Amino acid sequence: MATTPTQAAAPEVDPQHLEAVRKKYAEEAQKRLRPDAVAQFLTLKDANDPRLQALNEDPWADHDALNARPSPIEDSKVYPFFVVGAGFGGLLFAVHAIQSGVATADDIRLVDAAGGFGGTWYWNRYPGLHCDVESYMYLPLLEETGYIPTKKYAPGWEIREHAERIADQWHLQDKTVFRSDVESVTWDDSSELWNISFKERRGPQGSPIISHHVRAQYVYLAAGILTRPQVPRISGLSSFAGPMFHTARWDYGITGGSQKNQVLSGLRDKRVAVIGTAATAIGAIPEIGKYAKELFVFQRTPAYVKPRNQRDTNREDFKATVATKPGWQFDRQINWNSFLTNSAKTGQPDLVSDGWTDQPAYSAMMGSPNQAELDPNSPESIERLVTGFHILDLPNMEAVRSRVDQSVKDPKTAEKLKPWYPSWCKRPTFSDTYLPLFNEPHVHLIDTDGKGPSHATERGLVVGDKEYPVDIIVLSTGFQLANLRAGSPASRIGVKVLGRNGYSLDDKWDNIGAATLHGYLTNGFPNLFFSGSSQATITGNNTMMLNFIAQHVTYMISEAKRRAGTKKRAIIEVTREAEEAHTAEIVKRAPYFSAIAGCTPGYFNGYGAVAADLEGKKKAARGATWSEGTRSFLKYIGDWREEGKLRGLDVTLRS
Ligand code: FAD
Ligand code: NDP
Repeated sequence: MATTPTQAAAPEVDPQHLEAVRKKYAEEAQKRLRPDAVAQFLTLKDANDPRLQALNEDPWADHDALNARPSPIEDSKVYPFFVVGAGFGGLLFAVHAIQSGVATADDIRLVDAAGGFGGTWYWNRYPGLHCDVESYMYLPLLEETGYIPTKKYAPGWEIREHAERIADQWHLQDKTVFRSDVESVTWDDSSELWNISFKERRGPQGSPIISHHVRAQYVYLAAGILTRPQVPRISGLSSFAGPMFHTARWDYGITGGSQKNQVLSGLRDKRVAVIGTAATAIGAIPEIGKYAKELFVFQRTPAYVKPRNQRDTNREDFKATVATKPGWQFDRQINWNSFLTNSAKTGQPDLVSDGWTDQPAYSAMMGSPNQAELDPNSPESIERLVTGFHILDLPNMEAVRSRVDQSVKDPKTAEKLKPWYPSWCKRPTFSDTYLPLFNEPHVHLIDTDGKGPSHATERGLVVGDKEYPVDIIVLSTGFQLANLRAGSPASRIGVKVLGRNGYSLDDKWDNIGAATLHGYLTNGFPNLFFSGSSQATITGNNTMMLNFIAQHVTYMISEAKRRAGTKKRAIIEVTREAEEAHTAEIVKRAPYFSAIAGCTPGYFNGYGAVAADLEGKKKAARGATWSEGTRSFLKYIGDWREEGKLRGLDVTLRS
């Protein structure tokens, strides 16, 4: 069994070689920096171009079945709990509220733009989709549901069905309104309730849109962050004459097959272009490559691709070695997370042992309790920290690059597929089939040297002055994210949130920057909670994070409600002092993340957008995550709960 010391030992590296690699990293990052940063993209939803806008439509909703259901919502009614989003974040909140006794299923209403449960896993159904962290840790509530995933990395359909399983088990099916976009969440100072407005898009397309207005005592925003598919502003894109779609709305009508039967027979006589080579593309491209007559992969930045090592679950082994005792799932998550935060204990077994646990320098992004002494005002101290991460990372990224040489026969193609950035700049990808695909004569890597296609024509895509005629364009170009660290919880999900005296959550963030208690609630917005990692912790395994956020928020509400008794309502609000005290803890630790600043542009660093002035830099620091890693953060909020005082919260009781 693999073991690791408390902190991975720094490998021996040749300083000159390290210097040369860092220079190459910097040059490659520089090549990709653009003044328009996130503005280089357009969300499909907000595109003025009707063709692009139509690509956002829900391909999956079963309108007949949904229209036949009685509406779970009565306008003007007051609901105790209102949850925006029915992915794992929203579901886990509902489950914890029910399990803790703070609510019955009937007290809760969830609303989602999707036509079913699962969030990410509802929308994304492209061929090749699997979870990228082990499913035994990723699929939540395995102990409570008794479900055993079929594979170490479960396919997308299985994860979506697990979300439906959770909704069934906790009786949330008839409590959830689908196909509905929440537009605003507004605090009413006189009734001290939230007013929520949302529009229900009853299908099929062209059916009337119904406006709803409900009120709620507590609101939980769990609308995810990777929900708004985007496209680069490539001129002429919508003049392309053939079919085109985004991977988050896969069109099996064009490709043939279905999510469960991925025989893409519709591609057999087709030339297919894929734009994008990140996590989604690495899953989809090998499946397209099996069927397309010709495949053109338009690459701007190569992904870093690690071994997948997929395997079927042996149910007996699973019971004997994985689900060994109550609480095993959390223990497994923590075990895995300790490797990502470069803090596994000496002799600690590496239970998951995958391509995450062998890259300790990813702790530059995840945080680590094992931080070197850091003087934030000393550039030398910061440079020492960043260099330390580069030293730690070099063997990992060299192995990733030499895997390209081993997998791809043509040396020129191999060279172009090599990632020149450190591991912490992007989420790793995993595949055993992606790189060898470029040995196939019908698969063409169109490397754009960091620029992307110059424009599109009726016939295809153009790079420089060379046109590549194709029959189908697949957009694997990601999702619009408000700046991960600086965006308010409202802007992250595109909902207008107005608190006391009509103050907007976006304005609060614009004015002072992030300000929360533990990342999940903010002053001026009573009884409002949100999920996220800003001012909290980032975990790598997102459902782990969503689970403990739900537990923490549920604790706050249940403790406040316990004080209120059955006759009174509890209004919970963090004080300004408490949120500033928490923010100070975040800011104090923020220089730890200095290595991210030099990253190749991507959504981790707001596509390289850097605040120009000191004020902007200070605001950005407020939005950082907890730099000492997940275990440390869990202890910090756990100790706060242990105190039992709800320190920093004003709890007002109303009849
Ligand atoms: P989501 O799953 O995004 O759900 C949010 C829901 O809110 C969506 O259904 C959306 O329709 C709805 N919504 C948004 N705005 C509104 C609105 N205004 N009104 C109404 N509804 C709204 N993470 C991992 O840890 N491991 C993985 O393997 C992994 N794989 C991923 C694969 C893909 C393709 C993508 C895109 C992401 C992946 N992630 C993964 C991240 C993933 O998003 C999280 O793991 C997790 O599913 C997020 O759950 P959530 O409930 O917070 O958000
Ligand atoms: P990303 O935002 O990570 O990637 C978008 C891709 O599009 C990048 O390769 C980007 O290149 C490329 N791109 C953008 N603009 C252009 C352009 N003008 N020309 C050419 N290429 C362009 O989106 P993904 O959907 O791949 O992944 C988003 C996140 O979702 C992941 O980070 C991960 O967290 C999660 N995910 C997890 C998966 C799993 O395996 N479970 C699978 C899919 C997603 P560049 O890098 O140069 O910007």
